[in-house]
This record gives sequence, C-alpha cells and structure tokens, in this order.
Amino acid sequence: MSDAISFDTFKLAINGWLEDASGSFAVVNPATEAVIAQAPDCSAEQLDKAVAAARKAFRSWKVVPLAERAEMLRAAAARLTEYLEPLTALLTYEHGKPLADARAEIQNAARWFNAFADIDLPVERRPEPNGRVAEIRRVPVGVVGAIAPWNFPVSLAAWKLAPALLAGNTVVLKPSPFTPLTTLKIGELLLDLFPAGVLNTIAGSDHLGPLMSGHPDIDKIAFTGSTATGKAVMRGAAGTLKRLTLELGGNDPAIVLPDADVDAVAERLFWGAFANAGQICVAAKRVYVHDSIYDRFAAKMAELARNNPPAPGDAAGTRIGPVQNRQQFERVKAMIEEARNTGLRLISDPGAMTGPGYFIAPTIVDNPPEDAPVVKEEPFGPLLPLLRYTDIADAIARANDSEYGLASSVWSADPDKAAEVGRQLEAGTVWINTILGITPSLPFGGHKQSGIGVENSEAGLHEYTNLQVIIR
Ligand code: NAD
Repeated sequence: MSDAISFDTFKLAINGWLEDASGSFAVVNPATEAVIAQAPDCSAEQLDKAVAAARKAFRSWKVVPLAERAEMLRAAAARLTEYLEPLTALLTYEHGKPLADARAEIQNAARWFNAFADIDLPVERRPEPNGRVAEIRRVPVGVVGAIAPWNFPVSLAAWKLAPALLAGNTVVLKPSPFTPLTTLKIGELLLDLFPAGVLNTIAGSDHLGPLMSGHPDIDKIAFTGSTATGKAVMRGAAGTLKRLTLELGGNDPAIVLPDADVDAVAERLFWGAFANAGQICVAAKRVYVHDSIYDRFAAKMAELARNNPPAPGDAAGTRIGPVQNRQQFERVKAMIEEARNTGLRLISDPGAMTGPGYFIAPTIVDNPPEDAPVVKEEPFGPLLPLLRYTDIADAIARANDSEYGLASSVWSADPDKAAEVGRQLEAGTVWINTILGITPSLPFGGHKQSGIGVENSEAGLHEYTNLQVIIR
C-alpha cells in the first residue's frame, strides 16, 4: 500500500474506487466540540451503486475457495496492523476514547480477521436410511448490509466483515454518522486487498440506515445498535424477508455475593461500568451488592470515581474520555438531573458538566428504587446505580426483571456458588468473577430484546450462510 494515504480526506469506497459525495456532514471531536472533518454523505444513488457492485461481485466471490478468502482476511489484519498508529489517533480524535483503548480496538479488529480466517465451513455428508446421501452445505447469503454503532465503530464492523467475507458474501458497510472517519479510512486501506465490489464502505447521515434496511437487493442486515433502531431495521427488512442478526441494547446486572473481596471486586466493576465512558453494550449497568458489604463497596467505588476524572482521550494517562456525542451527553445529563430532582443520593457527583467537551465524571447513584429510570433504562454513559439486596433470590428476580438480556456477571469467593447464581440469569453471556471479556471463539448474542442471533465463533459465521441440502 502506498504511503500516500491521507488521514485528512475521507471518501466512500464503492466498487473498488474511492469517490466523493455531493453532500457532506460534519464530524465533531467530543473532547473539544470542534468540527474536525466533513464526511461524504452517500446518496441513495450511490447506495444503489454500491449494492449493485456487491451483487455483481458476489457471483465470482462466492466461488473463490474458502482458503483464499481466508488469506485475504489475514492480509486485511496485516494492513490494519501496519496502519495501527494513524488509525488509533484518528479513532481517538473522532470518538474521544483514550488512545490505549483506541489502539486495543484496532488490534481487536485485526484479531477478529485472523480468528475467522482459521474457521472452516466443512460440508457434512450423511447417509440416509433410503440409501441416498445427503450433502449439507453452508452457502453464502449474498449481499450483506453491515450497520455499526458509534461506541466501538471499528471492532463491531470487523465482527461483521470477517465472517461475512469468509463465508463468501459481499458487503456494504455503514458506520454511525457520529464516527464515520476511521471506518471510511479502513475501507480505503483495504480497497486493493479484495476484488472490486466485494467490500464497499459508505457513510451517511440519518437517511442512509433506513435505505439499507429496506433495500430490495440486500439479502441480510447485520446490525449493532439500540433496541429501538433494531426494531426499525426489522420492520424495514420485512419487505424482502432479509436475514437479520441484531445485536442490541443491554441493561446488564452484576451481582456481588457477601463473600466477595470488596476492594478487588469494586475495582473490577468500576472499570466494568465506566470503561469507554460507560458506552459499552455489556458494561455493568446495575450493580446489586449484598447489604453486609454495601457500604464498604460504595465507599471504594466513590474513591475510584474521585481518582478517575474524565479527560481528553489523547492526554497522557487518560482512562475515561468524554461521552461520544452531544445527543448522548444530553441524555445522560438529563438522567443525572432526574436522579437529583427525585431526591436520590449520588455517591459520586459529576458537578456542573458545562464543557467544553462532553465530559461527565463517573456518577454513582445510591440504592435507587427499582423503578427509577436510572435502573430501568440503559444510560449508556458514565452513570451507574448501586443497589442493595439481602436475599439472593430477590437479587436474581430483580436482575431478571428487564426487557433486556445481553450479559451479566456474578462475583464471589466461591466460583461454583457464583455459577449457580449465574445459571439463573436471563442473559446471553454470564461472567463469573470477570466482565467485558469477549473473544472471537465464543458465541455472543442477546436474549429477550437484546437481540436476535449471535456474532462470533462458528455459530456467528453460520449466520452469514444459508443451509443447502443436496440429496443424491
Ligand atoms: P443506534 O441504534 O442509534 O444506531 C446504530 C446504527 O444504526 C448507526 O449506524 C445508525 O446510523 C443506524 N441507524 C439509525 N437508524 C436506522 C434505521 N432506521 N435503519 C437502519 N439503520 C439505522 O445505536 P447507537 O446509539 O449508535 O449505539 C448505542 C446502542 O447500541 C446501545 O443501545 C448499545 O447497547 C447498543 N450496542 C449493542 C451491542 C451488542 O453487541 N449487543 C454492541 C454495541 C452497542
């Protein structure tokens, strides 16, 4: 790849070429609120062109041997690694997250490409009782529309690209309008690695997502985002009965048993709640602490909040950056105001939150009632309720009393006891004495309104295929 890649200009990548759009939209640095770039606003005609290119490329891409497609994924991983530092800086610039987290995100994307490159899609041959033989194959679905949110724009795109491309699909990828730049740059960096039309990267303002979910020539939507938008995607996709993988919101409970090591668990859960400024689908969002250790636990959390104020992601030592965008900033501020106005006590108070920059210090609410919005809703920001319980059955019932079912965690000196509690939780992932560890080798998905289908692992790869049975 030439060194002439510019990290100042951003273009759509359609059918093997970079192109501008007639319109554009502003991208803001959340640490300063300054406009840092104009991103191309892909038109409906350009989307049609990208989908048509993907459709045409599908005919030849699907018959490329899997091992060759895997090699191209490895080359993509190598390309991301080659450009690790400029991509890291760009991601922090547009997202706000600390440089170390941005670097880890790009590295994770490369890790996902490499991990999927090692997975096979073998044909199963099965003798049938009537003497015939059934050949069960997994064939690609066709053109995949991949839609990513702003909290992990790069890694959540890679979760979709790697399995989709390995299975023989072609892709039109769209990042969130809040964080389009790093994704567009990656689309540009990967352009020469795949045949024209196999990977198309577009960006656009709010008009573009609905056009994708309703597009008559897209066969599957792989979507990560909020539950409300997931439902809109599902409605849009119904017209052509698109395949769907929906990774949606979560309101993940953590349950701390009375025998837990208070300081150590408080520290793990502090970061489990406030990493990425709390903008993680599987962050701890409700922490149930046994009454006998609650006060010590709360004091430790308050100390951690005091010691970890938010700061610009590119400043040395930052571990918590700003909230990613103004909309989310206003939403979290309003939830904090609501908590204050209803007389709830804040174990750590964020103060005025006046900016510049969308900074909110880690905010912890002291034992709010179960029906308080801060407990019922997903704040998706640095705002966490701590909740007292005395009876474990009651804690489990409260933890499960949610329309969401994404992830959860249980903390105890006795992992077997914790696992016994964990088996009673309604969630796709249950961590025992750990949190946030997602790997490419394990299926990840939500129960209830946290999603449909899974990503990652063979099971996630299979979601990019249709089963075909040949009986001979
Ligand atoms: P969002 O739903 O607002 O947007 C997600 C993406 O969908 C963006 O690219 C957006 O432009 C696009 N979009 C918006 N309207 C659309 C429509 N009608 N049709 C198609 N696409 C449309 O979500 P967000 O605010 O970017 O992300 C935060 C949410 O994502 C949180 O709820 C979080 O829990 C969830 N999330 C879930 C997971 C998971 O794996 N389950 C991971 C990360 C984030």
